[in-house]
Amino acid sequence: MGERYRAVVERIARAAERVGRDPASVKLIGVTKGVDAARVREAVDAGLGDLGENRVQEAVLKIEAVGPGPLWHLIGHLQRNKARLAVGRFQVIHSLDSLRIAEAVDRAAGEAVRRVPVLIEVNVAGEATKYGLTPGAAADLVGRVLACRFLVPIGLMTVAPLAGDPETVRPVFRELRALRDRLRAGVAGDAFCELSMGMSGDFEVAIEEGATMVRIGRALFGDR
Ligand SMILES: *Cc1c(COP(=O)(O)O)cnc(C)c1O
Repeated sequence: MGERYRAVVERIARAAERVGRDPASVKLIGVTKGVDAARVREAVDAGLGDLGENRVQEAVLKIEAVGPGPLWHLIGHLQRNKARLAVGRFQVIHSLDSLRIAEAVDRAAGEAVRRVPVLIEVNVAGEATKYGLTPGAAADLVGRVLACRFLVPIGLMTVAPLAGDPETVRPVFRELRALRDRLRAGVAGDAFCELSMGMSGDFEVAIEEGATMVRIGRALFGDR
């Protein structure tokens, strides 16, 4: 585990350096879906401090079993009736994609008396099988999230199409970055700085295009 973790950290650093970025400006989120708690704990002990899960219900027991230390990121679609559970277990939510969900998370965060950092999920490539807003609809949701008392919009997230050659999805990452820049300069302000993009197959290209958070499963934990 330690070896795999170090290899990914090294690849992140090299990608950042290729474009003159500080490797410390890229956060590695280890995606632990399908990985048992004991192996997750090994990764945490090797130095992995941020973990991601897709499903709230499945994550609850794992978060408990892994124990204290890591920060948990919700990276999969959230259902309204799971908002309270999600706010109780996850520190950051990457997958807000509707006002209804935003309002449910805001309510749950208010009950917990906690401000929750959130990212807006954008379906840049317009794939029918993927969650996320169209780029054109993101500004409106960001504006509404800014009006929520307990939500702090910190940036955008996308899942790029699967591609054999990661170069083919470079324009997707570039477009998400341009959208982040526009929103930041417009409604959202300087705190809107995060770009959650890049997975095992394409994270180096995502970093070259400005990713500040990469979500990596297979390269750390092996094939699911
Ligand atoms: C599974 C998953 C990842 C990690 O994918 P790998 O290809 O295993 O690195 C990242 N983001 C989301 C939203 C995922 O569901």
